[in-house]
Amino acid sequence: MKILIAEDDDVSRFMAVRAVQNLGYECIDAIDGADAWAKYKTHRPDAVISDWMMPHMDGSQLCEKIREFEEGQGYTYFIILTTLHEREYRLEGMHAGADDYLNKPLDREELQLRLIAAERVSALHRELRSQAQELKRINREFFESGRIDALTGISNRLRMQEDLRALKAQVLETNDTACIALFDIDHFKDYNDSHGHVAGDDVLRKVANLLTSACRTGDRVYRYGGEEFLAIVHDADLRKAAIAVDRMREAVAHAAIPHALNEHFGRVTVSAGVAEFFADGEDAIDDSLKRADAALFNAKQRGRNQSVSSDSIATKAAV
Ligand code: GH3
Ligand code: MG
Ligand code: MG
Ligand code: MG
Repeated sequence: MKILIAEDDDVSRFMAVRAVQNLGYECIDAIDGADAWAKYKTHRPDAVISDWMMPHMDGSQLCEKIREFEEGQGYTYFIILTTLHEREYRLEGMHAGADDYLNKPLDREELQLRLIAAERVSALHRELRSQAQELKRINREFFESGRIDALTGISNRLRMQEDLRALKAQVLETNDTACIALFDIDHFKDYNDSHGHVAGDDVLRKVANLLTSACRTGDRVYRYGGEEFLAIVHDADLRKAAIAVDRMREAVAHAAIPHALNEHFGRVTVSAGVAEFFADGEDAIDDSLKRADAALFNAKQRGRNQSVSSDSIATKAAV
């Protein structure tokens, strides 16, 4: 345990330092309140034994400053030193945040008792702090895991809803343009029927990975539900977003995951619908999703494995 002694009287300070060191503790000394405050910040002692009357800053001011400074990041056990005729200051010191008091001249046994208590309280505070940090970490993990899709490991619908709400606020505030895209695996029911559900799950994981890897830096892909995915395309008008989305569609087709029942293509493909994200109005998010869904429907009708913009212009022919 590291102890800071603040005492302006040279003899008292010398004796206090000796007594603390003789008890086996590491000791730093300060010649007045201001010196103690500076040394406190540099050395971060576990306990402070401070005289009451000192030039520049008295014991109670020093204690208040320490309490303010350490807020939430540790605890310093504070012992106030008073002479017999300064007894009335003990209560004042305790009100200022001190944990205990000692009389001057220092009695070795009294000092030892107080420092044992100081060690216990410090250990308790350390334990509390580490428990609080652990709790914070668990909460963070819990928060994150609640926003991850268990099957694919990408962001789930809850995260998507939060991000869409944040996007709405951002677009309203900055007038940025953004787009959303809905992807749907083509003939996936047939894939499950022919390869089994477990293999179907594996395809969902692969498609999620492919879409995530192919999206632009800063954009995010979510599992919207079943075999559908949603992507938010930031800072892009419909034309730009359509290019980015088609690249994502292409990434899935190029992975060439065999799917015999996907007529024409013979591999796993996705169709996509892209729509501009409009932030105005209470139903802005739902409306944007509906426009993306309509474009997706159009892509299916046009033969699948392609992306369609909400203004109904196919961006690229199927590969
Ligand atoms: P389309 O090309 O028109 O999209 O045809 P589709 O067969 O993909 O569409 P449909 O909506 O008829 O079928 C979706 C299938 O997705 C049905 C369902 O069994 C499957 N599916 C949804 N969620 C999961 C899942 O978590 N795992 C697996 N293996 N299959 C899933
Ligand atoms: Mg003094
Ligand atoms: Mg579907
Ligand atoms: Mg489908």
